[in-house]
Amino acid sequence: METIEGYRIEILYLRKKNSSAQIRDGRVTLRISSRLNSRDRTRHIDTLLAKVKKRLTAHCQTDELYPLNLTDGQMIRVLGERCMLHLEAAPKRKHPGLKIKGQAILLTVPALPVTLEENQVLLRQFRQLMSKKKSDWLFDFVAELNERTVKSRKLKRAGFREQLSRWGSCSRTGSINISSRLIFCPVHLLEYVCLHELCHLVQPDHSVEFWNLVDKFTPDAKQSRRELKQYL
Ligand SMILES: [Zn+2]
Repeated sequence: METIEGYRIEILYLRKKNSSAQIRDGRVTLRISSRLNSRDRTRHIDTLLAKVKKRLTAHCQTDELYPLNLTDGQMIRVLGERCMLHLEAAPKRKHPGLKIKGQAILLTVPALPVTLEENQVLLRQFRQLMSKKKSDWLFDFVAELNERTVKSRKLKRAGFREQLSRWGSCSRTGSINISSRLIFCPVHLLEYVCLHELCHLVQPDHSVEFWNLVDKFTPDAKQSRRELKQYL
């Protein structure tokens, strides 16, 4: 089986125009246009794999507190705090359970992950459990940020969501969704994404007016966007 940096590679040929790559749950999925001839297919695959490799390796070197895998005793960042992760097997359990005590995080699992793929599934479950536990925290964070900056009256709700392709999104009804991966990113990046979405409550598009509004409240939006690219 072919792998890249320990991630299993899956190649799908689909009737679509563009080719794309997705990194998820310990797997790299390449979606290649079936309209291409075999030489172009190979070229697309090579280009995408080079990009994936860059992303997988660039990241690991820059931020050791951001979990790409879960191991017992590992230090991770949770909403800006350094925490120690404890993994414990409880074979009677059907689903993982999460307890947070100060800077200690206990994740109880039916079985400790053996393969990278199992580990990635567990990582996703961990993010989902964290999202639930920290949803009130996030709303307070966004509401307070809103008071300091945009002061939009539209804000109704903010929550973490398991979204991998976008860092954040917002609806016309004033609901803000933040990618659960940001729980583990440096907190100034979480703040930037929240601010970005708050500004969308005023300006839905990415017009000049929108970016002027963002720049009014943060001097380093560009830098934050650059940093976000390092995270998976
Ligand atoms: Zn936007």
